[in-house]
Amino acid sequence: MIIEYEAVIGLEVHAELKTNSKIFCACSTEFGGDPNTHVCPVCLGLPGVLPVLNKEVVDYALKAGLALNCQIAEYSKFDRKNYFYPDLPKAYQVSQYDLPICEHGYLDIEVDGKTKRIGITRLHMEEDAGKLVHQGTAIVESNSSLVDYNRTGVPLVEIVSEPDMRSAEEAKAYLEKVKAILQYTEVSDCKMQEGSLRCDANISVRPKGTEKLGTKAELKNMNSFKALQKAIEYEIARQIELIEDGEKVVQETRSWDENKGISVSLRSKEEAHDYRYFPEPDLVPLVIDKQWVERIRATLPELPDDRKQRLVNELGLPEYDAAVITGSKDLADYLDRCLEYYPDAKKVSNWIMGELLRLLNNSNMEPAEAPVEPKEMAELLKLMDKGTISGTIAKQVFEEMFNTGKSAAEIVAAKGLEQISDQSELEKIVEKVITDNPQSVADYRGGKKQAAGFMVGQVMKATRGKANPKLVNELLQKKL
Ligand SMILES: [Zn+2]
Repeated sequence: MIIEYEAVIGLEVHAELKTNSKIFCACSTEFGGDPNTHVCPVCLGLPGVLPVLNKEVVDYALKAGLALNCQIAEYSKFDRKNYFYPDLPKAYQVSQYDLPICEHGYLDIEVDGKTKRIGITRLHMEEDAGKLVHQGTAIVESNSSLVDYNRTGVPLVEIVSEPDMRSAEEAKAYLEKVKAILQYTEVSDCKMQEGSLRCDANISVRPKGTEKLGTKAELKNMNSFKALQKAIEYEIARQIELIEDGEKVVQETRSWDENKGISVSLRSKEEAHDYRYFPEPDLVPLVIDKQWVERIRATLPELPDDRKQRLVNELGLPEYDAAVITGSKDLADYLDRCLEYYPDAKKVSNWIMGELLRLLNNSNMEPAEAPVEPKEMAELLKLMDKGTISGTIAKQVFEEMFNTGKSAAEIVAAKGLEQISDQSELEKIVEKVITDNPQSVADYRGGKKQAAGFMVGQVMKATRGKANPKLVNELLQKKL
């Protein structure tokens, strides 16, 4: 009998909040800087210091919680999570345990055209740890490790989902949605490459149709969407293989090795009692009244789902386009700004989803860093409409605009890329192509209409893509 398995996946997402100062002191939260320059006695954990809660952190956590449809706790508190880690000098982390600020939320994801609701168990606030820098290539071969406490005390929210996801695709869609919501609400910049958005996954497998949860492993250290997807797929396959071989999945924390494409055991999984949580005695419990919640609710922007619906209803974009573009607030803003200069929404969205995203991905850039201004993209589309350049040339020009920051008109003029629409000039080339390709001509006249496509291609090649394709087609038809 062949047993079919299903995966049960829950995600824990850590997002650094975009506040200017740390959660319990006035130190800067800015990324980078020389090691140990954004520190003070409080975040260095020196004896005798007292934390002071940054009220802005609470505002940000509330905003994220409301955008994730959470219930806000009127009364919550901070707790100490104790462990010995060198990147937290106090040897405990101030976090929230049994009374988090937000609980019972959800968000909707779309996979294969189907919408699915993923529960959010909780969202709580905590302080980030510092960064260890191991000398050499890997921790095990390292002779020494250095510690940079600049990140210690940077505010985080941890968003814990219900184990509602069943595949790597669903997990990826969930993380993308969380990222979009945090960016729309501007509580985090979500730069995965700078570690301001990080994700752990709890994964188990069970025979499909059964209720009982299998033993789970926690997967850490996935720093991109691609890594998340690959790591989850690997882990599901690993667990199924263990079970099929009659072995047991052990509860443990595993680390994803991006280079080798495997997960490796890191340590056995801690239980809550291992952390000896207890209430943080230096901070008063947090009481949040209705007015505070309503004041934050009033600052919520239009969220991704609503914006997507607006693009479909008001601009007539297909659901798919609207979902891709509103998946990033910066892309959606880019579209809106293009439309101020060029009103054809579908054409603009094609260029954003095609050329712009391709070039951004190739250069590992975020939409906010796009080197081509929306107005400049609109100018390029206008040059195409006027017939100054062909569609093929437009793509080349756009790539050069992206790489050099020059305007479309500048590039077209400097390189002489204007489309050839001069009938007599094109006629000569068309005639030459006809003479040079008697076989294609015979094929065409014998009924093989696709032979014309080949000849159009030859004309385009002879003019280095500059011939007006519409005119070339007309001339060919006439002469054949
Ligand atoms: Zn500090």
